[in-house]
Amino acid sequence: MTEEPFQAQAAYFAALDDSRVQCLLCPHACVLQPGQWGICKARTNKAGSLSIPLYGHISSLAIDPVEKKPLLHFMPGSFTFSAGFWHCNLKCPFCQNWSISHPKPVMMQKTVLLSPQALVQKAFESGCPSISLTYSEPTIHIEYALETFKLAKASHLATILVTNGSICSSPAEALLSLTDAVNVDFKTASEERYRTMLGGDLHAVQNFIQIAYETSHVEITSLLVPGILDQPDEIKSIAEFLASISPQIPLHLTPYHPDYNYTKTPLRYQQMQEIAKPAFELLENVHLYRPWYAD
Ligand code: SF4
Repeated sequence: MTEEPFQAQAAYFAALDDSRVQCLLCPHACVLQPGQWGICKARTNKAGSLSIPLYGHISSLAIDPVEKKPLLHFMPGSFTFSAGFWHCNLKCPFCQNWSISHPKPVMMQKTVLLSPQALVQKAFESGCPSISLTYSEPTIHIEYALETFKLAKASHLATILVTNGSICSSPAEALLSLTDAVNVDFKTASEERYRTMLGGDLHAVQNFIQIAYETSHVEITSLLVPGILDQPDEIKSIAEFLASISPQIPLHLTPYHPDYNYTKTPLRYQQMQEIAKPAFELLENVHLYRPWYAD
């Protein structure tokens, strides 16, 4: 999918020698030869400049309860106009949204092309009091997200970001300055597991949460995945980090289901309750979700 209907300029990159460019948006810091795509598959080197061919390519549109983001302490009881993009800068083998985060090319035929103006207009006409960039990873489409949030604020819509938090400080500050509420995935407390299994950076996510707390309403989601995040000590590490910022930061502990490249049997609800105990001791707002298969 390389159609470029909106001709938007990429931000956050440096030109290098030999027509190479380095993307400075996320911790991967991809150095790209002409024609090469970044790990996120959303940004590419086109003739010695960073190009964003997926600007305005929307994978999903829906009106959701704000609690589905999940946000339980921000505009409760309201609905939010939600839009998703394509692709992601992580490679979680258990991805619960893989059909848009790691799509096969044929899946992208359902793209809807919308400018930020058109998206905000739809959100405004929906009657929802907020707009959410969600479902896949919005920060790798930061140019579109910034424009959308600027326009949304001018239309008195609240702005919501649902993200993996894998983004560098400078773009994070720019985006969060326009974000009213953010839900950040905190996938594991293990630096090594973030790097080797998920393709991420624990410290970048922690840094993002710290910045977000200074600018926006923040809630955190941790998916309890067997073999990734299934030990009380790990939940304790996550909760200790959050408590060091504020014990009032809400933590959502959600159940995994087998998906994408991961087939491990889900945790039983009783196991989830055991794993979650340290969070309840350290934080004031812990929400443990009962899986539909609970026994
Ligand atoms: S946003 Fe994409 S292209 Fe840029 S550094 Fe991250 S993975 Fe690489």
